[in-house]
Amino acid sequence: MTEVIKTHRCPICKKIFTDTKYRPFCSKRCADIDLGNWFNESYRFEAEEVDEQDLEELAKAVEKNNEEKD
Ligand SMILES: [Zn+2]
Repeated sequence: MTEVIKTHRCPICKKIFTDTKYRPFCSKRCADIDLGNWFNESYRFEAEEVDEQDLEELAKAVEKNNEEKD
């Protein structure tokens, strides 16, 4: 039987690698880059401000939608 070596493609640097130590990334460096991306994403999400007026309008829209369903 021949041993099948599975290869993976790193989603960060797109390099083909076989070492699964840092799966799904090729190395700790790329894993760190991905982690950094996540932190940036969540920071951006938290920084996004929602207007009270927007919430009111959203609530009204939901209400209206429910009324139309009946
Ligand atoms: Zn990589």
